[in-house]
Amino acid sequence: MIAPHGGRLTNRILTGAELDEATSRAGSLPKLTISDVLAGDIQNIARGVFSPLNGFIGKDDFESIIANDRMVDGTVWTIPIILDVPEKDSVQPGQEVALYRSGEEEAMALLTVSEVYDWDKQAATAAFFGTNDLNHPGVAGMYARGDWLVGGEISLIDNDRGPFADVNLFPAETREVFEKNGWKTVIAFQTRNVPHIGHEFLQKSVLGFTDGLFIQPIIGKKKSGDFRDEVIISSYLTLLDNYYAKDRVFLNILPTEMRYGGPKEAILHAIMRKNYGCTGIIIGRDHAGVSDPNGKPYYGEEAAIEIFRDFPDLEIEPFSIAGDFGYCLKCNAVSSDRMCPHGADFVSFSGTEIRSLIQSRSKVPEQVMRPEVLERILQFDDIFVD
Ligand SMILES: [Zn+2]
Repeated sequence: MIAPHGGRLTNRILTGAELDEATSRAGSLPKLTISDVLAGDIQNIARGVFSPLNGFIGKDDFESIIANDRMVDGTVWTIPIILDVPEKDSVQPGQEVALYRSGEEEAMALLTVSEVYDWDKQAATAAFFGTNDLNHPGVAGMYARGDWLVGGEISLIDNDRGPFADVNLFPAETREVFEKNGWKTVIAFQTRNVPHIGHEFLQKSVLGFTDGLFIQPIIGKKKSGDFRDEVIISSYLTLLDNYYAKDRVFLNILPTEMRYGGPKEAILHAIMRKNYGCTGIIIGRDHAGVSDPNGKPYYGEEAAIEIFRDFPDLEIEPFSIAGDFGYCLKCNAVSSDRMCPHGADFVSFSGTEIRSLIQSRSKVPEQVMRPEVLERILQFDDIFVD
C-alpha cells in the first residue's frame, strides 16, 4: 500500500467524549463564520484527504509553497489550503475559536490559532495560477478572500457524510477496501461528467495494467448547465452494474471545489488520490484548466502532465492517454487518430453534443452512450444545474 502523502494519514475527526466535550465548549468560544468552501476544506483536512495537513497552513509553509511548490520540510504542495479573515485582530494567536457555517447554530469545527499573517495576493495567484487575470475564476476567488490568513490546527465536530454517504468513504476507509480487494496498484479516474463510451474505453484500458480502478466524481459547487451531482453518480453506478467486473472497480466521490489551477491543481489532485490509497491518476488534457473570456485556455494542453516531471518524489504516478477518440464506424470500435486512419467515419464523443441531446431528451447513439446509462439519466426531472 502506498504511504499517505508526507508519511502519515491525518485524522482530526472528534468522536465520543472528546466530541461531546468540544460541542459543549464551542458555545463559549469566540465565533468565526466560514464559507461552505472552507467548511469543505476543513472536513477534507480532518478526514485525511489533505494529509499531512492538520489544519490551515502557516506563513512559513505558505511562502515556501509560493517559492518552491513545497512546504518547509520539503513535502510537495502546490496550492495551499488557507483560512482567511478580514482583519488582523479577527482572531488572536493562541486562541481557540469555534467555526460556524453561515446561518448555522452548531459549530462545525474548532480551530487553535497559531498565527495570523498577511499575504501578497498578487504573488500568490501568480504562483498558483500562473496569472493575475481576474477573469480567471481561481484568481478572482483568491482576490475575494480576506487580507489576513490564519494558521492553526483544526478538530472536526460535523463529520456528516452528506447526501451521498454510501459513496463518500474517507481515505482510511478506501485504503481498507483496496487492501481487502488485494489491489497493489490502483489508478484514479477523476470526472465531473456522465460517462460516455469513450470514458469506458479509457477506464477499461487502464484495467489492463492495474489491479483496481478508482472512479472519483468531484462533487461540489457547480456552474449552471453542469450535470447535477446525483445524475453523475447514478449514471456511473448504472454503468458499473451493467458493464464492469465487480471486483476491479470502486466508485467514491471527492467532495472538493475545483480551483481551476491547471497543472498546480493536477498535483493537488494527485496528492489527494495518493491519500485515498491510489498509486496512479489519469490526468486529462488541460486537466483542471479553464479558458479566458475569449476562449483561450490559460494552460497548455499537456501542462498538467508535464509538471509531474518536476516532482519525482511524489510517488503517485500520472497517466495521460493521447489521441482524439471517437467511435469508428469502419473499425466498429472505439478508436483514435493514433489508432486507425478513419477519422472521417468517427462518431464524436463531444460533451457539448451529448449535453444538447440529453437537454432535448433525444436519443444519444449507442456508439456514444450505453442505453442503460441514458435511460437512468433521463429518469431525472432535473438533470442540469439551473
Ligand atoms: Zn477505424
